[in-house]
Amino acid sequence: MNNLKVRPLEKIVLPAEPHMVGDGFKVHNMIPNGARIALDRMSPFFLLDYNAKMDVTPGGLPKGVGAHPHRGFETVTIAYKGKVAHHDSTGSKGIIEEGDIQWMSAASGVLHKEYYAEEFAESGGVFQMVQLWINLPAKYKMNPPAYQAIINKDIPVYLTDDEKVSVEVIAGAFKSYKGIAHTFSPIEMYNILFLDDAEIVLETYAHYNTALLVIEGEVVINNESLINTDSMGLFANKGELITIKGTKNTKVLFLSGEPLNEPIASYGPFLMNTEEEIVQAFKDLENGKFGQL
Ligand code: MN
Repeated sequence: MNNLKVRPLEKIVLPAEPHMVGDGFKVHNMIPNGARIALDRMSPFFLLDYNAKMDVTPGGLPKGVGAHPHRGFETVTIAYKGKVAHHDSTGSKGIIEEGDIQWMSAASGVLHKEYYAEEFAESGGVFQMVQLWINLPAKYKMNPPAYQAIINKDIPVYLTDDEKVSVEVIAGAFKSYKGIAHTFSPIEMYNILFLDDAEIVLETYAHYNTALLVIEGEVVINNESLINTDSMGLFANKGELITIKGTKNTKVLFLSGEPLNEPIASYGPFLMNTEEEIVQAFKDLENGKFGQL
C-alpha cells in the first residue's frame, strides 16, 4: 500500500425530497439527479432509489408498482427491511426477504411488477429498500433477460481480524473473498456492517466511480467527514484508500465500478445508447416483444 493515497470525498448527498414509485415505494433518488450529478457520473450505476425506513400499517393491500417494462440495464433490489414480491413476463416470480437481493438483468426486455409481499402487507412493520439500475455495456444490452436470486445466507461474508466489521461481498471481491453476483462490467458492491465501534480501510481504484450510502447509524470518512443516516458519500476520482469509521450496528452500502464510457440515451424505463434504440424499445413494447403479464 506504499504509494497509495487517501481518496477524498467529493460531495455528501443528502436525501432529496421523496417521490412515490407506484403506490408502495417512497423513494429518495440518490443517483443521478437527486444528487444533481451528471447521468454518467456514477457509471455504470445509473440510478439509485432509496426507500428510507418507513412504517407500513398492518392489514393493508400489497402496495407497489404494476406491470412496467425495462430494457438495456439491470435492476438490483436490496430488501433491508420488509419483503418485496415480484412477478414478470418470463414467468419468474419470488419474494425478496430481508437481507436478500434480486439481481435482474432486464437486458433485451421484461415486463414486471414489484409490490409488498402479501405476508408483509398483512403483518406491516418497517420497510427499507434500495433499488439500483446498473447500466449494461452496449454489447450486452440485447441479451436475453436473466435473474440472480441472491439469498442472504449465500452471500460470502468477510470478517476483519478483530471481528469488529463484517463485509458482505455482493459483487467483485474483498480481500480473497469473491462476490456472489455475476456482473457484465467490473463492479465492487458490499454491505459493510460494524459489529462494534471500529474502522475499516478500503483499497479502491481511483478511476472507478465510487459512493457509499449510510443505511444505519453514521460514519466518519477519512477521519474528517461525518455522513449521517440516509445520506450518501460520493468520492472524487483520485486516490485509492477510503477509511470508514462506524459505531456498533452501523451499516453502509458500498458501490464502486469501472465507468462504461459509452453514450447514454435514457427515457423512462429504457436505458440505451442512441435515440433510435429508445424509439425501437417503444415499438417493441407496442408489438408485444416484452411478453405478457
Ligand atoms: Mn421495475
